[in-house]
Amino acid sequence: MNCTEFLAKLTDYFDGQIDPELLAEVKEHLGVCHHCEVVVSTTQQTISIYRAHETYEFPEDLATRLRTAVMQRCTAAKAASVAPASEAKPAQIRV
Ligand SMILES: [Zn+2]
Repeated sequence: MNCTEFLAKLTDYFDGQIDPELLAEVKEHLGVCHHCEVVVSTTQQTISIYRAHETYEFPEDLATRLRTAVMQRCTAAKAASVAPASEAKPAQIRV
């Protein structure tokens, strides 16, 4: 089993809807492939956080930086949408 085949079976693996022969191949792959092991570990953590319905507070500095970045993007997008037509790139038409 390679990584692509493993990832194609990932949902079945988490759902427990996988036949024993394929499960053995999945476990064998996880034993030798660090990348897929990380995918499984991260996904399992995500599932448990989701199931626990826990919420986490953003650190204040992260919230501030995120807010600033979003506002900068919004301001830039608004400025671009009101730019004079002469500065806009002409539309290219293919025939
Ligand atoms: Zn892999």
